[in-house]
Amino acid sequence: MLIILLGPPGAGKGTQAKRIVSENNLVYISTGEILRKAVKEETSLGFRAKQYMDQGQLVPDELVVEIVKDRLVEPDDKKGALLDGFPRTVTQAKFLDKVLPDVNAKIDRVILIEVEENELIERLTGRRVCSECGANYHVQFQPPKVRNVCDRCGGDLYQRDDDSLETVKERLEVYKQQTEPLISFYQEKELLSTVDGNQDIDGVYKQINSIIEDL
Ligand code: ADP
Ligand code: ADP
Ligand code: ZN
Repeated sequence: MLIILLGPPGAGKGTQAKRIVSENNLVYISTGEILRKAVKEETSLGFRAKQYMDQGQLVPDELVVEIVKDRLVEPDDKKGALLDGFPRTVTQAKFLDKVLPDVNAKIDRVILIEVEENELIERLTGRRVCSECGANYHVQFQPPKVRNVCDRCGGDLYQRDDDSLETVKERLEVYKQQTEPLISFYQEKELLSTVDGNQDIDGVYKQINSIIEDL
């Protein structure tokens, strides 16, 4: 099974993805998380990606497709994969179409999470992330039990550099220009399902889950 989560920054892709993968035994592939890890570990990929990420721009396609290619091969004990934050451009989507047959996979569904812009800004500027396991929190909407400490692993929570108001606005603009064209790209292939992401986390999850159950 291969599922893609599509949607603007702050739509709740990461939050939903973590639950979907654990309940459906899928490999979780988040290009954003992979890139942040590379930046933290100061690898050459991280060094090249950081300048774009800090400015709210997309990392060039050539760099991103390489990291995805390596991960698409599924371990035997998993039922498939969930892609979060990839593809983000039409070039990346075409790349995916080209490489999937090599790994005997095809896209089962592209799930678009739609959320209003004002809500996205509130979600992103209040987001906190676990430095150890990557779990997402929100100071108001999804606070940890103990302030700045991850419920799951006890790691410290931090605010991403690119979650400042200025960079958030840039990322939303980049989404409109470079990622939104994927909506019609997948609509034309009859692969798109849309979910109302303005609901609470459980409500969104239920809608996504009913789509997955029908696959
Ligand atoms: P994305 O991966 O799409 O950028 P996240 O899953 O990181 O989004 O969510 C962005 C922020 O919004 C996080 O702080 C998260 O806790 C919060 N959040 C996620 N889903 C909801 C929701 N349905 N309602 C309110 N806040 C949410
Ligand atoms: P969010 O969902 O909050 O926008 P992500 O964690 O998915 O955040 O991505 C963070 C940053 O990593 C993006 O702003 C971009 O710079 C880079 N990035 C992640 N995925 C891609 C991708 N598929 N193509 C290009 N850049 C990416
Ligand atoms: Zn954690």
